[in-house]
Amino acid sequence: MINSTLPLIDLHRHLDGNIRATTIWELAQKNNITLPTTRFEQFIPHVQIIDSEPDLLAFLKKLDWGVNVLSSLDDCKRIAFENVEDVFNAGIHYAELRFSPYYMSMSYQLPIEDVVAAVIDGVKQGMKQYPVQIKLIGILSRTFGVEKCQQELSALLAHKHELIGIDLAGDEYNYPGELFTNHFTQVADAGLHVTVHAGEAAGPVSVWQAIHELKAERIGHGVKSYEDESLLEYMQKNKIAIESCLTSNFQTGTISDLSQHPIKTFLKHGLLVCLNTDDPAVQGIELKGEFTLAETVLGFTNEEITQLQKNAIEMAFMSNSERKALLEKVASNNS
Ligand SMILES: [Zn+2]
Repeated sequence: MINSTLPLIDLHRHLDGNIRATTIWELAQKNNITLPTTRFEQFIPHVQIIDSEPDLLAFLKKLDWGVNVLSSLDDCKRIAFENVEDVFNAGIHYAELRFSPYYMSMSYQLPIEDVVAAVIDGVKQGMKQYPVQIKLIGILSRTFGVEKCQQELSALLAHKHELIGIDLAGDEYNYPGELFTNHFTQVADAGLHVTVHAGEAAGPVSVWQAIHELKAERIGHGVKSYEDESLLEYMQKNKIAIESCLTSNFQTGTISDLSQHPIKTFLKHGLLVCLNTDDPAVQGIELKGEFTLAETVLGFTNEEITQLQKNAIEMAFMSNSERKALLEKVASNNS
């Protein structure tokens, strides 16, 4: 059971992977975009995983619909605001939302830097209305190549004081981390935190690279880390954390049997690992459901669930005083 005296935290949650089906539908009507169907109920399977069969391509295709309808900066601001609302409605106290400004700008060639500003604006507006704490992580989408990632990075760094970190996401297999060392030198110079999607499509070597060369403090997914005992030891010793996303790993086919998810191994090795959503709207999930999965499918005990929650607090990109304030706030709500 979720320990209600501790905060509920989501550290790996894509803002541009969490665009509501109703919003996509509305924006498509507003922007005269032709959708594959004229009935909303029939549209849902196009933007949300319904089948239980894992399929990476199907997953990615569903993800694209959300950004395909973003025709203006107002649209970007709207989905940022709604993301905050969703975090609140999901009972989450603190979330780090990540977004790829180039991915969001793509369909209508919106100015990338303005997209960053629109997202920041929408999140700020959301936080005024809802009592949740949100921080933003900028994503470099490696699938678009080295040059485009530099454009993304420059746009993000122009707003670096509004961001907490930078992530590298996308096609890990065909665009290995080595291509982006220069980008992450700039991230380090800007004093931002680093999290990297690694060990999802590629093996432990990709995780080592993210840690050593990109200076990753956290690894998104990191599923394949379990294949390398020395890597697990290194991560434990150096407190390199893993952001696990159970349903996502199953739906993308990264793991074929949820009950065998290596999160068990990570916990056993004393790694900092926590539960997260990834792209909740596309996956048709929310964070509390992932905790239920951990209990029912992986057989986690209450102690293990509490440990995951404690890890999330420690892993969060926040100062010690912020951590203390968040803990006190949740504890006082319970008393
Ligand atoms: Zn992700």
